[in-house]
Amino acid sequence: MKKGELLYRGKAKSVYRTDVPQELVVEFRDDITAFDGGKKANLAEKGMLNARVSAFFFTLLEKAKIRTHYLGMIDPATMRVRTLTMIPLEVIVRNVAAGSLVKRYPFREGQPLDPPILVIDYKDDARHDPMINDEIILALGLVTAAELQEIKQKALSVNRVLGDHLQGKGITLVDFKLEFGKDGLGNVTVGDEISMDSMRLWDARSGQSMDKDVYRFDKGDVMEAYRRVAERITGNAGGRSR
Ligand code: 5GP
Repeated sequence: MKKGELLYRGKAKSVYRTDVPQELVVEFRDDITAFDGGKKANLAEKGMLNARVSAFFFTLLEKAKIRTHYLGMIDPATMRVRTLTMIPLEVIVRNVAAGSLVKRYPFREGQPLDPPILVIDYKDDARHDPMINDEIILALGLVTAAELQEIKQKALSVNRVLGDHLQGKGITLVDFKLEFGKDGLGNVTVGDEISMDSMRLWDARSGQSMDKDVYRFDKGDVMEAYRRVAERITGNAGGRSR
C-alpha cells in the first residue's frame, strides 16, 4: 500500500489517497489549534500521542463490535483507515457539564449529567459549527432518520466503552466529539480521531484537565499533560528516543 496524493489538509491532520481505493492514510500532525483556528501552535510529538491514543480507542471499540475506520499504523503518527464518505456532523456526548454547555446554559461546571447529554453540531468552520437538531439534519438530507438513530445509539455505546476504560485508569470522561462516515456498503462507521484534542478528560481525584483545555486556557504544560494521559490510557510510555 503506497501513500498517494494529499486529499485533504485539516487543522491537525492530513489525509492521503493510497493505491487501494478503499484505504486512506491519515497523518496526525503536531499542529494544535483552538477557538476556530484563532490560537495555533506546533508541539513536537503531539501528533504521535494523539495517533497512539486514537488507535488504542479504535481498537477498544472494534473489540466491542463498534465499527471504526481504523486499519492499523504505518508509523507512530500515521494511520491506515477505511475510506469513508464523511457526514458533516460533530456528535458530542457529555457526562459532566463543561465547555460550551456551561457557557450557553445554566449548568454548573462539573455537574454530573446522568443520563449523558447528546448534542450534535453541524461541522462547518465558516458557520462556527452551530448546534443542529434532528429536524434540520433531516431537512438538509445529511442522513436518513434510521441512520440518525444509529449514529446516536453508537455514540452512546462508544461513551460506555471509553468511559469504563477511563474510569479504570482514574480518569473522568467529561465529554468527547465523534465524527461518523459511511463506507462503500453504507455502514455507519466511526471516523476521524478520538484523542486529547477531541475529548475532555479530568483526573478523577484532582479534577485537573488532561486534554486540549490545557492548551485552550493556558492551564500548564500541554505536552506534559498529553504525554502523561496517553501513558495512563494506553499503558505505553512510548515516545521517540529523545
Ligand atoms: P464544547 O461544545 O464544550 O466546545 O466541546 C465538547 C467536546 O467536543 C469537547 O471535548 C471538545 O474537545 C469536543 N469538540 C467540540 N467541537 C470540536 C471540534 O470542532 N474539533 C474537535 N477536535 N473537538 C471538538
